[in-house]
Amino acid sequence: MISIDDALDHIAFQVRPLAIEQVPLAKALGRVLAEDVASDVDSPPHDKSVVDGYAVRVADVGPGDTTLTIVEEITAGDVPRQAVTPGAAARIMTGAPVPPGADAVVMVEQTQCITSADSSLGEVRLRGQPVVSGQNITRRAASMRRGEVVLNVGHELRPLEMGLLAEVGRTELGVFRRPTVAVLPTGNELVSPSEVPSASQIRNSNGAMLLAAVRRAGGEPVELGIGRDNRDSLKRRMSEGLRCDILLVSGGVSAGVLDLAPAVLADLGVREVFHKVNIKPGKPLWFGVLEAEGSRKLVFGLPGNPVSSLVCFELFVSPAMRALSGLPFTPRATTPARLAADFEQRGDRVAYFPSKLYEEAGARLVAPLAWKGSGDLRTLSAANALICFPAGSRRYQAGETVEVMEL
Ligand code: AMP
Ligand code: MG
Repeated sequence: MISIDDALDHIAFQVRPLAIEQVPLAKALGRVLAEDVASDVDSPPHDKSVVDGYAVRVADVGPGDTTLTIVEEITAGDVPRQAVTPGAAARIMTGAPVPPGADAVVMVEQTQCITSADSSLGEVRLRGQPVVSGQNITRRAASMRRGEVVLNVGHELRPLEMGLLAEVGRTELGVFRRPTVAVLPTGNELVSPSEVPSASQIRNSNGAMLLAAVRRAGGEPVELGIGRDNRDSLKRRMSEGLRCDILLVSGGVSAGVLDLAPAVLADLGVREVFHKVNIKPGKPLWFGVLEAEGSRKLVFGLPGNPVSSLVCFELFVSPAMRALSGLPFTPRATTPARLAADFEQRGDRVAYFPSKLYEEAGARLVAPLAWKGSGDLRTLSAANALICFPAGSRRYQAGETVEVMEL
């Protein structure tokens, strides 16, 4: 049995980003850049007004009211035709180019427009507020210059990056491939969720759960159907699953007489990296790799109990998936919270205990739930966090600080 940290190190050592593929911008959300992206424009493309108002010369503005002749109206998309000369101003809208000669923009709310016999656009009166050079102007290329790299390899693309990529004209991008993840629930006792189980049967809950977990973690789930506890059934389905980047086997990795997964995986050439981790729930976790035609397949044997499967997925599979997708391998973070009730922790394994994390009077509190063990998904559905108790039996007092992993 190895520690959680050692298990994570072993997994980290085996993962590297998958191949690069080109995707259209509209399909790039959630992907990780495999190339540096440079801008093909200056942004903004010109000195730009950030308010609706008047472009003026600071030198024209006195301490009291100042009246200027409006020589032009410039809206976004226009090109200014006139310079602002002494005594003149241009009416300007947000996003429009600042005309030559002007060095500040005064917001419309601080001005008064006056009709004038001498000028078709009239005059503007500034109401004595101080005006400083550069006010309400964003300079050309202030946010980026043409040719400048604006996003680097390894950057995860969120909606805001979609906007930035559109701004710099990138409609196709090189990104790392998402991992394909095959899910193989195993067990003679399993029936599909649409069936009514007999007294000795249970429904396959891990299948639906793991397929969903894969999708949420950014992978492409592949359903293999239920494997039965015999070598032929497992071998057939596992070989199919080994075409994917990751094969998740659920069940059949503990010490029972029908726990055949490790032996069948070995027959298929999958090399065991570790088996059994010092964690509760999840101790039987199995991990191995298959080197196949220049690509490396990762195989996780998750314990069959649903909560064990989910905890192992969160702790071990999801960081591996992120690393295959081009992100750094980062173990799931824990953060401190105060225990809301006393808790008796028993055993020599690190325990991840379903709990409810909440805020009260500015403090982060966490309450262990009345969890009935690793088969109890129902109680887990009320949890939004797992308290991580170190190995060793001890009574924890309400108010003590513990580490929690959010779900
Ligand atoms: P195993 O790891 O195969 O020994 O299974 C441990 C426990 O998890 C047993 O009680 C199984 O019936 C249960 N189990 C295994 N696979 C599933 C599954 N796909 N869905 C729900 N429970 C499962
Ligand atoms: Mg089983």
